[in-house]
Amino acid sequence: MGFGMKVLLVEDDDRIADALIPALLKRNLQVDRASDAASGMAKFAEADLVLLDMGLPDRDGLSLCRAIREVSTVPIVAVTARREESSIVAALGAGVDDYVTKPYSLAVLMARIDAVMRRVGHHANEPVHAVFGFELDAEARQVTAEGEPVLLTRKEFDLLEMLVRANGGLVTREALMQQVWDTAWVGASRTLDVHVATLRAKLGDVAAIETVRGFGYRLPALEEED
Ligand code: CA
Repeated sequence: MGFGMKVLLVEDDDRIADALIPALLKRNLQVDRASDAASGMAKFAEADLVLLDMGLPDRDGLSLCRAIREVSTVPIVAVTARREESSIVAALGAGVDDYVTKPYSLAVLMARIDAVMRRVGHHANEPVHAVFGFELDAEARQVTAEGEPVLLTRKEFDLLEMLVRANGGLVTREALMQQVWDTAWVGASRTLDVHVATLRAKLGDVAAIETVRGFGYRLPALEEED
């Protein structure tokens, strides 16, 4: 999970919040708390992930979730005391990314948070971490694989960062040329091929950059090992 990622905990129960917040902080997450739906609504835009208690004093968690979804794709993990299947279905229908039912174990909750963050990818301003066999720190502009720094040129780094940020999606040759070389000149695209080749050589097995013939490139996340 991204270092310094901010979690908004929307929870009216102080005892639960008091137990949960130190556990989140220990995982190097920043935590903000809202104790009702109104303040959750006011604060979610700052968050990288919302941990949402479904039973809130001023407004149903489901309706808060729908309201957030109208304006944001921020990941939401619902915490529900209701074990009934119908409420879980309703929560998923309202756009939550995952849920845990109370009482939950902290380990399970953390694993769900991690899984959701992996699925949705990371936000633009934080270091991008190991969904791949390497870590790319966008701020420090460093790449490490198996604990060893991988030395990349500026262009190689920019190229790799674009592929990482696409989160497994296709990045077109045009977009790469435009972003990395600031040119749409097709004749320059040989340069792109050369850079992809050197990136592949430098990263080896930790980054399987795929060629999408005629279109561009994509960098699929590694298969998860269970
Ligand atoms: Ca509650």
